[in-house]
Amino acid sequence: MDIAIPAPDKCPLCGSTSFENRYKNVKRFKRSYNVYECKGCGLGITHPFPGLDHLTGLYSSTSYRDKGGKRFIAPVETVVRSLRTGRLNKIESLSTKGRMLDVGCGLGLMLALARDRGWEVVGLEFNNETAAPARKEFGLNVRTGRLSNNGFEKCSLDVITFWHSLEHLEDAVDDVREAAKLLKPGGLLLLSVPNFESLQSRMSGPGWFHLDVPFHLYHFSASNIKKLLKDAGLEVVRQEHFSLEFNPFGFIQSFLNMAGLRHNLLYDILKTGSLRPEGDERGSAADTYITALLLPFVGIASVFFTALEVLFRRGGTVDIYARKSPLIKARLRTPAKTPPVFEGNTYMEPEGHQKNMSD
Ligand SMILES: [Zn+2]
Repeated sequence: MDIAIPAPDKCPLCGSTSFENRYKNVKRFKRSYNVYECKGCGLGITHPFPGLDHLTGLYSSTSYRDKGGKRFIAPVETVVRSLRTGRLNKIESLSTKGRMLDVGCGLGLMLALARDRGWEVVGLEFNNETAAPARKEFGLNVRTGRLSNNGFEKCSLDVITFWHSLEHLEDAVDDVREAAKLLKPGGLLLLSVPNFESLQSRMSGPGWFHLDVPFHLYHFSASNIKKLLKDAGLEVVRQEHFSLEFNPFGFIQSFLNMAGLRHNLLYDILKTGSLRPEGDERGSAADTYITALLLPFVGIASVFFTALEVLFRRGGTVDIYARKSPLIKARLRTPAKTPPVFEGNTYMEPEGHQKNMSD
């Protein structure tokens, strides 16, 4: 039976009160959700939110990470490790080493690597249970709870990253605004999110792999993320619509879902043993067999469609790098007429501009 769920009250991103119910009664983990789309900015909102108790249960029920913080079988985890190195290399191409915060740090692979390279690092996680693997495995400093109530000082961080974590946060929009305040002038914010306006999202509807209800509370797009960043005083300096880690597989699993096979069956097969569903939720042997048969075809199709996504800048996930203006605080008082000058790592004030950047 369809359950009537009222729309959200107000879009946290643009303030609109007008929504379209894009996906009705999406059933996951024995509950039913709607995905509303804001008519003002296109932000998707899972409704209702699963509630803290249910969400805590889902993150703890070994359906997300195992006790050691791992999610996948060994070969996949090895690939994931090498991708984290690439991620850090990109950050270092855009920022000098300093203080880095990873919101939703998970197992903490990237933070541990950054620490080894000389960064001062801190992570933020949902609760002590989800923070435990990064603390135990790498001895990382991982705080829990919200960005706004963890004692981070304004203008104190060089880099803040949200790698596929923003869409999980109940106050995601406010958290981006808060992150902008915590960055030093010239600091870098990195967001990687599933793209609600991507080709794979539009093609596969509620079967889209990266919709991931109810873990994903919000469904951002490249365009409304950029608006959010601009409004928070940040300038987008880089935007990428190709992710080897997320986008081809997003197509593969979405195609299999569209074929009517058990939802996310292949993804579950790739998970580490203790995370694989048991009993009725495991999926039939026939579904597993058909998945294996279809895999070469959907694999080839995913290469073609991933290329199309990149060509039309409609990637299934999008990575956005944004910089806080070196003059952001000064501009609020005195518009700078002369562009800032950089000489190596030393910031030099434009002539006649005396604002102290540290206050
Ligand atoms: Zn909106």
